[in-house]
Amino acid sequence: MMSDAAQTKFPLMTNWKLQWRRLLWSQPSRTKSSAMREKHRGFTFIELLVVVAIIAILAALLLPALNRAKTSAKSAVCKSNLRQLGIGFRLYVDEFGKYPLMGLSYVTADDNRIRELDWDEAFLAPYCGGSNNVFRCPASKHYTFGDYGYNHKGGSGLGLGGEWVYSSETEDGHIVPTAESRVLVPSDMIAIGDGNVSLAPYAPTNFLWGTMDYWGIDPNHSQGANVVFCDGHVEYGKIRDWVKPDDAHRRRWYNDNQPHPETWAENTRP
Ligand SMILES: [Zn+2]
Repeated sequence: MMSDAAQTKFPLMTNWKLQWRRLLWSQPSRTKSSAMREKHRGFTFIELLVVVAIIAILAALLLPALNRAKTSAKSAVCKSNLRQLGIGFRLYVDEFGKYPLMGLSYVTADDNRIRELDWDEAFLAPYCGGSNNVFRCPASKHYTFGDYGYNHKGGSGLGLGGEWVYSSETEDGHIVPTAESRVLVPSDMIAIGDGNVSLAPYAPTNFLWGTMDYWGIDPNHSQGANVVFCDGHVEYGKIRDWVKPDDAHRRRWYNDNQPHPETWAENTRP
């Protein structure tokens, strides 16, 4: 018996004729094999190239965004560190009524050697939870103890780390700490920021990673640096702005909040 469809297509054919016709023209076994091959064949080279090109374009679009996010995250951690350092700094000043010295020298009891400690380890660490992590900027990779500098001498003297006072009696000098009252505008006085132990308004020319040769302010974050001020607030700025030789920017380095233009030439390069 012929099916309804076959009878519709070949109305005058008998069943054996229809089978013969199918064998000749339809070739069902070959058609099935081609379909199988079509179903299981792999990518052509061109298709592979197209896929690779699409992946490359997507990566090119995504990578800058990921890098920006990474850079931004590092800067956020740095700001958080400086915020904590600012709080520790305020606790120290509130307790002693003076700012930390730049460093401390003492003779060790066991081997009678002189040991030097910088401001961070000597004075501030006990006020910052006892962890060194807060002194580590994730965008910096070079310093032994910490990655932040202290505005201890301002652009040239008049910083936070004390003043050298000479005594004619002893024919020697000593450092007198900066009293809290000496800082006239704490909200506009740079305290601690991205740098190497010391912080100063020097442009980062001839910058040598990992050396003590440079006492400027470090471009750790997209050519900029984070800084905490004496009142504890944190600001981000480009290096060119932190070191800019104009009244508004330079007065932030001195405890009397004056710009001291007589020092600007000196500060163009350490
Ligand atoms: Zn930083």
